[in-house]
Amino acid sequence: MKYKAVRNFYEGRFVDSTSDETLDVVSPIDGNLLSKVPMSSIGELNAAVVSAKDAFDSWGKTPIKERSQIFFRYRYLLEKNLDELTSLVSEENGKTYDEARAEVEKSIELTEFACSMPQLVSGEILEVSKGVECRTEHFPVGVVASIVPFNFPLMVPNWTMPNALVLGNTMIMKPSELVPLSVGRMAELLQEAGLPDGVFNIVHGGKEIVEGICSHPDIEAVSFVGSTKVAQIVYRKATDSLKRCVALGGAKNHLFVLPDANPSMTASNVTASMSGCAGQRCMAASAMLAVGNVDPIIDQIVEEARKVIPGKNLGAVISRAAKERIESYITAAEHDGAKVLVDGRGAVVEGKENGTYVGPTVIDHVQPGMSVATEEIFGPVISIMRTASLEEALKIENENPYGNAAAVFTQSGGAARYVMDHASAGMIGVNIGVPVPREPFSFGGWNESRFGSNDITGKSSIEFWTKLKKTTTKWNPEAGVNWMS
Ligand code: NAD
Repeated sequence: MKYKAVRNFYEGRFVDSTSDETLDVVSPIDGNLLSKVPMSSIGELNAAVVSAKDAFDSWGKTPIKERSQIFFRYRYLLEKNLDELTSLVSEENGKTYDEARAEVEKSIELTEFACSMPQLVSGEILEVSKGVECRTEHFPVGVVASIVPFNFPLMVPNWTMPNALVLGNTMIMKPSELVPLSVGRMAELLQEAGLPDGVFNIVHGGKEIVEGICSHPDIEAVSFVGSTKVAQIVYRKATDSLKRCVALGGAKNHLFVLPDANPSMTASNVTASMSGCAGQRCMAASAMLAVGNVDPIIDQIVEEARKVIPGKNLGAVISRAAKERIESYITAAEHDGAKVLVDGRGAVVEGKENGTYVGPTVIDHVQPGMSVATEEIFGPVISIMRTASLEEALKIENENPYGNAAAVFTQSGGAARYVMDHASAGMIGVNIGVPVPREPFSFGGWNESRFGSNDITGKSSIEFWTKLKKTTTKWNPEAGVNWMS
C-alpha cells in the first residue's frame, strides 16, 4: 500500500476511524493498491459536526477580509504544490498528467474567485424615505456540508469549499470513497495557510454518512455533486429535514453539428470533449446530432479519435465495473444496429495490464431510442444520431431528461442563436465542446442535472452560502412617522 490508511479530519487533526469496515483505494492506471478508506460511523460524523459548530462561533464573526487572506495563502500553496497535487489526482483518478494539472489550475482559479468575495458581498444601502435607510448584509449560514463525486478529486471540492468558507461557514466534506486522497492533502494545505481548527472537516464513508449529513440537525445546508439518482435522494432527504440544498446530477450532453461547421475545428473539439478525462466529465459530449449531410466532418472525427491512445493521451476509467458498464453500452448499440466506427472495447495498455482503460469510441447511425442515445455512459464514447433538420435535432435534445450542457458547431450566427434559445440545458457552447463557464460565471445545469435553485459556483453560489439580513434605520427624530415607518 503506497499511502497510509485514510483518516478523518476534524478539530484540526487527522483522526483514525474507529470503523472496521474499509474499502481499497486502487489506482485505475495500473490497479495498484494506494490506500484504504474507512466507512466511518455516524458517531464520527457527529464528532466532526461538533468540531465545525464550535469553530463557527469565531470564524463566522471574523471579518471577511481577514478570512479571505487565508485563501490568498491557500492559493499560493496550491501553486507551490502543483506538481505533487497533479500526480496525486492522476494517480487516484486515472486521468492523464495534463488533465490532472488542468484540474489543479482550475482549483487555483476557483480560489481566486473566493479571494474576491469581499468585493462581491459588500452590501447595499439606500435612503428609502426621508432619514430612513435600508441596508443589506450577507451572513454565513452556519455548518454546511459538501458531498463530492470521484471524477474531479480536487476541483469539485474547490467548487464549494473556498466560497463557503470565505463567506464565514464551517464545513463537513464527504469525499468520494473512490478518490479520498486529494481532499486530505487539501486539508493539510488549508492548515498550512492558517485556517483555524474545525473550520474545515472531512468524514469519509458512503451512503450512511451521506444520509446522516442530510438529516443532521446541526447542518444547515447541503451541496451535492454526483449522479442524478443520488442527487435526487440527497435533495429529497436534505429538504425534508428543512435544509437548503443544491444537488448537481448527471448529464447527457448533446452537440449539434451543422453542415457549415468548420470541419477541423469541429472534429478536434468533438473528439476532445468526448474523450477528455476518459469521458468522465459531466460536461463531456455524449451525443452528436448530425444535422443534414456532415459526412466529411464525421470522417475527420474518426481520424481525430484514432489519435487518442489509451495510456498516452487518454487516461483510465475509474474502475473495472465502469469499464464493463461502458463496454456493455457499446455492445448493446452494435446489437441494436448502430455502426461502431471506432471501437474502444478491450483496450489494454502494455505494462499496465491491470489498469482499466476504454479506447475512444465513435458510434454512428444511433437511433434516438437506444440506450447509448438516452443514458449517461460516462466513458469516451460519442453516439451520432442523423437528423434531417435542426428542429428534429432540438426535439431529441429537449426530450432527454438531463440538461447540463449543449453545444452547436456552425458558422451561422442565426443557427447558433437558435440553439442558444431552444436547447434545454444550463450551459451552452458555440463552437466549444466543453462549455464550462469560467469564474465569475456560475456552473450549473437544468432539468435532472440540477436540483435546487442555485448554481454551485460563481456569483450564484453567494446566495446559497449566505443569508441576507435587511436592516432599516432611522436616527433623525425629525424624519417623522409615515406609512412606511
Ligand atoms: P455518485 O452519485 O455515485 O456518488 C457521489 C457521492 O454520493 C459520493 O460521495 C458517494 O459516496 C455518494 N453516494 C453514492 N451512492 C450513494 C447513495 N446510494 N446514497 C447516498 N450517497 C451515495 O457519483 P460518482 O459516480 O462519484 O460521480 C459521477 C457522477 O457525477 C456522474 O453522473 C456525473 O455526471 C456526475 N457529476 C455531475 C457534475 C455536475 O456538475 N452536474 C459534476 C461532476 C460529476
